[in-house]
Parts: sequence; C-alpha cells; structure tokens
Amino acid sequence: MADTLYLVVPCYNEEQVLPETSKRLTQKLQTMIDSGTVHAQSRILLVNDGSRDRTWEMICELHAQNPLISGLKLSRNKGHQNALLAGLMTAMPLCDMAISLDADLQDDVDVIDGFVAEYYNGCDVVYGVRNKRDTDTVFKRTTAVGFYKFMKALGVDIVENHADYRLMSKRALQGLSEFTEVNLFLRGIVPLIGYKSAVVKYDRHERFAGESKYPLKKMLAFAFDGITSFSVKPIRIITTLGFVIFAISMLALVYALIVWLMGKTVAGWTTLVGSIWMIGGIQLLCLGVIGEYIGKIYGEVKRRPRYIIEDFLQ
Ligand code: UDP
Ligand code: MG
Repeated sequence: MADTLYLVVPCYNEEQVLPETSKRLTQKLQTMIDSGTVHAQSRILLVNDGSRDRTWEMICELHAQNPLISGLKLSRNKGHQNALLAGLMTAMPLCDMAISLDADLQDDVDVIDGFVAEYYNGCDVVYGVRNKRDTDTVFKRTTAVGFYKFMKALGVDIVENHADYRLMSKRALQGLSEFTEVNLFLRGIVPLIGYKSAVVKYDRHERFAGESKYPLKKMLAFAFDGITSFSVKPIRIITTLGFVIFAISMLALVYALIVWLMGKTVAGWTTLVGSIWMIGGIQLLCLGVIGEYIGKIYGEVKRRPRYIIEDFLQ
C-alpha cells in the first residue's frame, strides 16, 4: 500500500501564480496517485499566510473544483517559516510524508519523484539542493555564499544551498513538533532532528509571475535570525575581544606610567581621543549584540503562538 503525501505550499499574495501552480502540482500528484506511487488520499495543502489580495478566495475556489486541493488559512501574515510550520503541523496527522515548496514554482516540481524515491529508500528527511544559482542576482548569490560560510564557521550544521524545498516523514515531522522555539529557522532545526537523510539536486527556475516576497530587508532579518538563534559564538567573540583590549590597555597604562615617572609628559591628545572613541564604539557594538540575544530571550519567554489557524478546508 502506497503512503500518503502532502505537498505544503505557503502562499502570500500569490494570486498571479496560484492557477498555474495548482495546475502543475495537481498534474504531478495525480500522475503519482495513478501510478500507485502515493496513496489516493494525498493532497496539495495551500497555506494562505494572511494575503492581502485574492489568494484565499482563489484557494477556496480551487478547493471546491479540485478534490486534491486543501486550504489552510492563517489568521494574519506570520511569515514564510511560520506559514510553512502551520502547514506541516496540520498535515502531520494526515500524511506519511510531507514536501514543502514555494508557490512560485522556482523549485522544480519533477524533483518530487526523486524525493519520494528516497523516502521509500528509508530516508526520513530529503533535502532539495540547488545545482546552480544563475537565476538569482549576483548580489543574492554572493550574500548567500557568505551566509552559508559564516554559519558553517559558527559551527551550525546547515545544508548548503538548500532552501525550504524538502521532504519530511511523519516521524521527522513529529520530531519537528517538539521544537517549540518562537524564532523559527527551519533550515537550522531540521538537521537537528536527526534520522537518515538524503540530498536531491535540482535547478532552480526563475519566479514565473509576481515578485519576490523576500526583499533585502526581510532577507537580512532572516539571516540575522538564523545566526542568533543557533549560536552564542558572537557573545564569546565579544568576551575574547574584551579581554584582548583590556590586556592592551593595561600594557599601555604601564607604558604611560613609565613615561610619566621619567618626567617626559607626552602630548598624547590624538591617542587619547582616538582610544576613547574606539573603546566607546566597541562597547556600543557589544551592547548591541548582547541586546539582540536578550531581545531573543524576551521573544521566547513570552511563548506566543507562532500562528493561529482561522480556517481549514480539508
Ligand atoms: N511567503 C509567505 N509569507 C511571507 C512571505 C513569503 O508565505 O510573509 C511565501 C511565498 O508566497 C512563497 C514562499 O514563501 O511561496 C517564498 O517566497 P518568495 O518566492 O517570495 O521568496 P524568494 O524565492 O524570492 O526567496
Ligand atoms: Mg521564490
């Protein structure tokens, strides 16, 4: 007996791409059901992340016409990661495996077969990894490379060039549900779940309609969240830096005392002003980074819900 697959698709203002996306995904899923690869109860779960356009109305229409389409409506916009989590957690009791993918079909739909094959091979997590990134701008490409390098250097276990296109088995999803942090960075959490995993390579396409919902500001915030929720290394670096600067200032003090005892007063105005500014700057920087972590703790202790489900069209 074949297993049940859920395709989880977060959608934020995606009215331009939804007709095409649902058509392509339906074709894919129907073929897989017909060939007996997946169970007939498999579904496409479209998650409306508080869209301001007609996305939800379209999901309702699609659900009425197409038996393979389910819809989930969040009470407001909660961001890509939370929308994805809401979809995965809703799918968990209903499926044996779930694949998350973007609404804009940038991720090659035909790779789904490869994902499912790996699942039947006994993998609980299958990561989609991009072959090349030539559809991205030079800026996005270089920042992405820098980001993955930095994360690796901080010791965070992260799959390079893997966006949120992945398959997770039911028990991997159950593992994921145990992670209750409010600041969610799925790419960092999924490797922590463990189990056997595999990587499937694919080429990422251009977004075929509409525009990116990840402008630079959101992308930077996402990268920053990723770093600060997975590593306290920046704090350690600050401590080390503090020690080094303290040691240097001690040596400088000894030197200044010797000069003073020898009766040679130095007109050290430049160094004085320079060091005041430098230390002041470093202190501010350190305070800022520490503040980031405190802010993070503040966000976590509140235990606010990560999403609220308004409607579920099963
Ligand atoms: N998305 C979402 N909520 C948001 C922003 C984006 O659910 O607040 C969805 C969006 O509809 C898409 C996916 O997240 O399915 C990835 O967004 P996008 O394609 O705009 O990002 P990019 O591929 O440009 O990084
Ligand atoms: Mg996209």
